[in-house]
Amino acid sequence: MDVTALLDGLNPPQRDAVAAPLNHQLVLAGAGSGKTRVLVHRIAWLMQIEHLSPGSILAVTFTNKAAKEMRQRIEDLTGISPRHLWIGTFHSLAHRLLRIHWQQANLPENFQIIDSDDQLRLIKRIVRAMNIDEKEFQPKQAQHYINSQKDEGLRAKHIQPFNDRWAQTMVTIYGAYEEACQRGGMVDFAELLLRAHELWLNQPEVLAQYQNRFRFILVDEFQDTNSIQYAWLRVLAGKVIPMMAVGDDDQSIYGWRGAKIENILQFSKDFAGAQEVKLEQNYRSTSNILNAANAVIDNNPSRLGKKLWTDGEAGEPIHLYQAFNEQDEARFICEQVEQWKINNSTKRYENIAILYRSNAQSRVLEEAFIRAALPYRIYGGQRFFDRLEIKNAMAYLRLMQNRHDDAALERVINVPARAIGEKTVQLLRDLARDEGSSLWQALMQGIEHKLLTPRALTSLSGFANLIAQMETTCSGIALHEQVDHVIKSSGLIEHHLKEKGEKAQTRLENLDELVTAARSFNMDEAIEKQLQNDVPDDALIQSPLAAFLDQSALDSGDTQADEFADSVQMMTLHSAKGLEFPLVFLAGVEEGLFPHKMSANDPERLEEERRLCYVGITRAMERLVISYAESRRLHGQENVNSPSRFIGEIPAEYMQEVRLKATIKKPVSNFFGTSAAKEATGMNIGQRVWHAKFGEGVILDMEGQGAQSRLQVSFDFDGTKWLVAAYAKLTAME
Ligand code: ATP
Ligand code: MG
Repeated sequence: MDVTALLDGLNPPQRDAVAAPLNHQLVLAGAGSGKTRVLVHRIAWLMQIEHLSPGSILAVTFTNKAAKEMRQRIEDLTGISPRHLWIGTFHSLAHRLLRIHWQQANLPENFQIIDSDDQLRLIKRIVRAMNIDEKEFQPKQAQHYINSQKDEGLRAKHIQPFNDRWAQTMVTIYGAYEEACQRGGMVDFAELLLRAHELWLNQPEVLAQYQNRFRFILVDEFQDTNSIQYAWLRVLAGKVIPMMAVGDDDQSIYGWRGAKIENILQFSKDFAGAQEVKLEQNYRSTSNILNAANAVIDNNPSRLGKKLWTDGEAGEPIHLYQAFNEQDEARFICEQVEQWKINNSTKRYENIAILYRSNAQSRVLEEAFIRAALPYRIYGGQRFFDRLEIKNAMAYLRLMQNRHDDAALERVINVPARAIGEKTVQLLRDLARDEGSSLWQALMQGIEHKLLTPRALTSLSGFANLIAQMETTCSGIALHEQVDHVIKSSGLIEHHLKEKGEKAQTRLENLDELVTAARSFNMDEAIEKQLQNDVPDDALIQSPLAAFLDQSALDSGDTQADEFADSVQMMTLHSAKGLEFPLVFLAGVEEGLFPHKMSANDPERLEEERRLCYVGITRAMERLVISYAESRRLHGQENVNSPSRFIGEIPAEYMQEVRLKATIKKPVSNFFGTSAAKEATGMNIGQRVWHAKFGEGVILDMEGQGAQSRLQVSFDFDGTKWLVAAYAKLTAME
């Protein structure tokens, strides 16, 4: 193999790292400086020049997706099948080891992995069985306690709580939980890592086997390793296996999950004499984008401190859009995507990413993309209408609308629990099958002819009455009031509250969000859409509830692009780590949302939020669009937010405010410069207006003075337009 081919496309410090002798290495460098590229080339080098077999190389990545990409790149570079390489996340590697060495790890052969939902449920059962007060010692807290102890490598028997009653109880729960897991052959995520670590400590011959096997270890995203992960690596490497750690302290964003930036400093101590590699040239982003990122992260006091430069072009300024509200923001993003696609016809949708701080922001974006018929894909996090609590609420609404919706009936007949058991439901199914009727008809028949036990009859009548009452109350009230009423009277709130903690909170927020969705549901638009599809007049869906159900069914159906289809990528900032895209949108960059309000007052957490912002900005290669909404409805609440402090930390010279048609607006420093236009037109942003040709709409923005004043109006049917105020002859409504 040609040495130069492996070193092609690398700068001198990158080459030094790739072609170094087999020793410890620490590559500490900023975003987009080619760390992952170095890691991949290093693996190729080890195989081709050092002749290490693929099976003797261990590489740790942060996601399974990254592992997959790495395999592909290695194969492209070397032509060698990477099948035998050990590449994966800490969890997947630990899992693999435990499957091979289940006996030595003291596990049953068919041990089961449990996710954090299962884990919480198990802890709850234990807490109840032990008669511990669930209010004082919340299962959710116990879960957090157990996982963080495991992350520190501690078993219940290792912990000495002394006279601390709270800690004593937690340790007791931890111990009982350990026993239950051991009995049932269950392994949670944190346990995977702890067991794999204990495998090294307790089974010297297994450790020796792997120390003989592996000749080199490589770790990407090292700044986000936690204690147990690092300990696992350190013990494995021992004094025998050289290790390359690659990371960036400015991109440590999992502190809230136990990640330790300090591991970077510890590495230099534990692996004395490690070659330290600094990469300072960024190859990913235009200089405007890079300078903005550097300026933002510079506000963090505790940094190891690195310089990052690029000899690339300045590129476009960063675009900043002040949206009127979250709907306007989503619409703006869609228009930008369409525009970009027209101007860059050879580029693909997957070159575009929309990044946001919290998963709940995705609903509005999703809806806008569906309306605009743009392909999109959401990574991680469930689509809004696929969420359990939303499906439950929608099932009540569906049943109210149509009693013969069997799927809806099955879903909620006993949710919340109303003592209608599986036996009763099976009886209804049999009856319905024999009669060729719906489940609802079977239910009514069962009640009428007393075909069931008195207890079941009482429960079934209760259910039937509930649905009937819902319908009565809901006749004649607005759609969002209907949704609100159904959620409240169904008992779903109490039902989900029983789950307690963060999960219950999220579910309730989502239910609120459903009311918000109903409130912003536009009936005129729904009818217009039907007319466009040539639905005949007498078949038009006129009821807002029916139209809403119709649309949400679409939203949860196959509207999302297939995994392999070309589509815009939507994801949280956390899951964007390590990735890059020519066009990146950072949406919802507002105080309270980003930085998150929970972190704004804690200096350490604020620094982590800022690192997250740095990660976000540095994902962009060519164009970065930052948007924030003046007012945002989220979790059913309307909030008026100011632009994020992070926007203020970007020097104005790299930024430019944009308008929908990408025209240039007032200087960045002047966030709210609309007063002149407001005086001239006598209108306000947000005002509903009527136009002789375009019909009804809402004012999104205004600019200019006197006779030059222009208004931006989003018309219900004709899209968004800029109009000269003097000629538009708008009539104010409401
Ligand atoms: P992050 O911190 O975001 O994980 P990174 O440091 O791992 O970034 P890479 O993803 O490896 O950076 O590289 C960023 C981009 O720069 C990639 O598109 C990569 O192909 C390119 N790149 C890296 N080094 C060079 C080089 N010497 N010449 C040309 N392009 C390079
Ligand atoms: Mg990387």
